[in-house]
Amino acid sequence: MHHLCGHHGFFANQRKQSGSAHQHSEQIESTQESFEAGASIVHAHVRDDEGKPTSDPERFARLKEGIEKFCSGMIVQLSTGGRSGAGKIRGGMLPLRPDMASLSVGSNNFPTRVYENPPDLVDWLASEMLTYNVKPEIEAFDLSHIVQACAMQKDGRLKGSLYVQFVMGVKNAMPADEKIFDFYIETLKRLSPGAQWCAAGIGPAQIIINEWAIAKGGHTRTGMEDNVKIDRNTLAPSNASLVRRAVELCEKYNRPVATWQQARETLMLAYPSGA
Ligand SMILES: [Zn+2]
Repeated sequence: MHHLCGHHGFFANQRKQSGSAHQHSEQIESTQESFEAGASIVHAHVRDDEGKPTSDPERFARLKEGIEKFCSGMIVQLSTGGRSGAGKIRGGMLPLRPDMASLSVGSNNFPTRVYENPPDLVDWLASEMLTYNVKPEIEAFDLSHIVQACAMQKDGRLKGSLYVQFVMGVKNAMPADEKIFDFYIETLKRLSPGAQWCAAGIGPAQIIINEWAIAKGGHTRTGMEDNVKIDRNTLAPSNASLVRRAVELCEKYNRPVATWQQARETLMLAYPSGA
């Protein structure tokens, strides 16, 4: 099985005073560098002119267009996470038909707040993804989120094979605990035998989770949305530097890094026209 190197494209080091055109091209350039380093999926958020997270579909459209132009073939995943707004505004970009979108199926605590994902909103986001043929990446911050995704697949609210992201190391949510990690894998396999899984760690947990995921046969996510340091004392110079660190782990465990074509086949996503 190939390893898909996810790239989390939220730019913690971005200067807030930068104008929107500059911000946009910086995000595309960073994505291209990560793509060339081996990432086959880009998970992206957008910001407004003040640098604040937004769900503005027009900004998402421009970003998607730029990535498709400069990173032809790369899987584009747009965030429907709660950082950029509440309620249905979070899914306003789904009619753009990106390859994928993130989908949280339950609530949990974040470092300073509750990450709210009420059942009616989850169901609405899932149905919009079915309408526009967008493959969800289930963000599992807790065991119950894995169980819920499998239940949604069983009753038809989610269709096709599941792709689940285990997220560990968020303060006040699930820490990076290897026994729990193993139980996540076991539970997902038991409840949804054809499912694919990926894993991400926050802050210092990033490299630990990257290594567990690669060693245990999954896919992995890295990038500056989750962690800004390349080692204990050094800020990561770029998203691509974190992708290269994950690629080194793939080599250590003899897991070939997937090309974008292999990644699309693994996730059963169509090739984009023109790629
Ligand atoms: Zn995100």
